[in-house]
Amino acid sequence: MNYQQLINEVYSEVQSLQLEGIVANYIPELSNVDIHKFGISLVTTHGEVYCIGDTQEKFSLQSISKPFTLAMVFASEGEALWKRLGVEPSGNPFNSLAQLEYENGIPRNPFINAGALVITDILRSKTNTPVEDILLFIKKLTNTDNISINQKIALSEMAHSNRNKALAHLMKSFGNINSSIDELIETYCYQCAIEMACTELAQAFLLFANHGHNRLNGDQLLTISQTKRINAIMQTCGFYDEAGEFAYTVGLPGKSGVGGGIAAVLPGEFSVVVWSPGLNSKGNSAKGMKALELLTTKLGHSVF
Ligand code: GLN
Repeated sequence: MNYQQLINEVYSEVQSLQLEGIVANYIPELSNVDIHKFGISLVTTHGEVYCIGDTQEKFSLQSISKPFTLAMVFASEGEALWKRLGVEPSGNPFNSLAQLEYENGIPRNPFINAGALVITDILRSKTNTPVEDILLFIKKLTNTDNISINQKIALSEMAHSNRNKALAHLMKSFGNINSSIDELIETYCYQCAIEMACTELAQAFLLFANHGHNRLNGDQLLTISQTKRINAIMQTCGFYDEAGEFAYTVGLPGKSGVGGGIAAVLPGEFSVVVWSPGLNSKGNSAKGMKALELLTTKLGHSVF
């Protein structure tokens, strides 16, 4: 397969469709991004890199940070982790409070905000330097030191985090959060404000295409079984109330973020990242969804 030709075709077809979407503005600082940015990077498990468009420009990971924190915590806790959260799709928006009340403060899965907050809470209980540890984990996967946090975005989210605080308070009332709420939200906002370019992120996401193995330094970070399970959760829960649509039209495990990125993997073959900041009504990149649909359709290959 000529992957360069594939992503070139996808890129120009998506551009011709004039999909716009809306840049996230509930975190004010995110709305300063140019909506016309668009890039696609694909990295194979053999280390070949293909890119087109704005693939070297950093953007905010937001919820794409969640598979990395899950990987860190799953590697250390193993299956015991699932006492505090589930692995079921929520069918609800990422920041919904409704289910959490009648499910006794146990989040449905690690990719809705409530579940990601539990994962960050566990991580915080293991280390005094959670943010540095997350950055180090990602840097080792990309073999670069040039990955950092956008302070303005982190502070902007912290100043507009009533809903995430509400989720954390509700879970704490059920005994499912140990950190202080302010410290937990701070760590969470910093992890979401990590910035990476498409190619760097595709490189890091290769962990999930490569059976939990960091091909850059040989480290086995997750077992094969843990990697399969994280991919299963990405497949069923990675796109919130659009997870079914993504499975139906794209057919790859993946994770979206309100920074406009989508990272996905074809296990054993490649990881692919699309970035376009215009979001659809579910908070997923409008062009990103279409690009990945075209990619697997043209490829004639998905996990199904
Ligand atoms: N930091 C964002 C939030 O908590 C992440 C949401 C997302 O990317 N879907 O609202």
